[in-house]
Amino acid sequence: MNLQHKLVLGDAAAAATRWGRLAGKVALITGAASGIGKEIACVFAEEGASVAVADLDGELAQSAASQIDPLGRRALAVKMDVSNEEQVEAGMACVVDSFGRIDILISNAGVQMVAPVTEFEFAKWKKLLSIHLDGAFLASRAALRHMYRQNSGTIIYMGSVHSKEGSPLKAPYVTAKHGLIGLAKVVAKEGAAHGVRANVICPGFVRTPLVEKQIPEQARELRISEADVVKTVMLKETVDGEFTSVEDVAEAAVFLAAFPSNALTGQSLVVSHGWSMQ
Ligand code: NAD
Repeated sequence: MNLQHKLVLGDAAAAATRWGRLAGKVALITGAASGIGKEIACVFAEEGASVAVADLDGELAQSAASQIDPLGRRALAVKMDVSNEEQVEAGMACVVDSFGRIDILISNAGVQMVAPVTEFEFAKWKKLLSIHLDGAFLASRAALRHMYRQNSGTIIYMGSVHSKEGSPLKAPYVTAKHGLIGLAKVVAKEGAAHGVRANVICPGFVRTPLVEKQIPEQARELRISEADVVKTVMLKETVDGEFTSVEDVAEAAVFLAAFPSNALTGQSLVVSHGWSMQ
């Protein structure tokens, strides 16, 4: 589903809260101004949730929130650098002030940088780990404090097939994505007593700006054509040569967020056209 296909929620806001798999829930999605996070925010709103569109890019976040709900009743833009403790605390407080609670955190914000280990600049290594890992920790901590008071909540981390597999040129990304599985397992164990679940979604390649940027970068590094990056690097191990779609990932997020019991916690769900099988 693209934004053009979305319901115009504005006047339908009250009605929308009465239906949908996430009816009446409040979700904060980081990195929601673009790509996977934006689609999750749209689908969650369609499913009846109020959504906070959190992103480093405040203008794009505002634009996405306005498209989801032009009247701003059930979609709120939050400018937030997930690696900045104060901004994450303030953003979470703003969401709870506006919507009264926080039921779902999608820790999704992320970037990609590619280079061989021997050439990876330390500053870039630290920046990537900070966005993915500090960001996930800070957003989780801020959300959990509210969720524990409510005695309910669910956190979904955006991992990757790179939470399970390695690939050349992606040392900090693979390291961070593996780390998110560890964080999810700890949050699942600590959160259970407070009604909180934690899981990870591990998508294959999805054609978002993050991946579009990588195609020429990898072509240069590997000295192959861009078409060959897609065919022989990104989609080689899939069962059908297809990219995973933002819709596929959003559907998995709804499934995990709406799951009704603690039976599904501490897990990682791979959504990758069979690239990674467990
Ligand atoms: P994207 O580039 O389309 O969106 C990422 C968003 O995160 C952007 O809006 C960006 O502004 C935001 N962001 C970046 N740094 C931030 C920060 N410090 N604080 C807050 N927001 C920040 O990328 P995407 O493909 O939608 O990626 C979303 C997540 O999905 C990432 O964690 C990525 O690693 C993961 N993922 C993507 C793919 C893929 O193939 N696209 C596959 C597996 C996992």
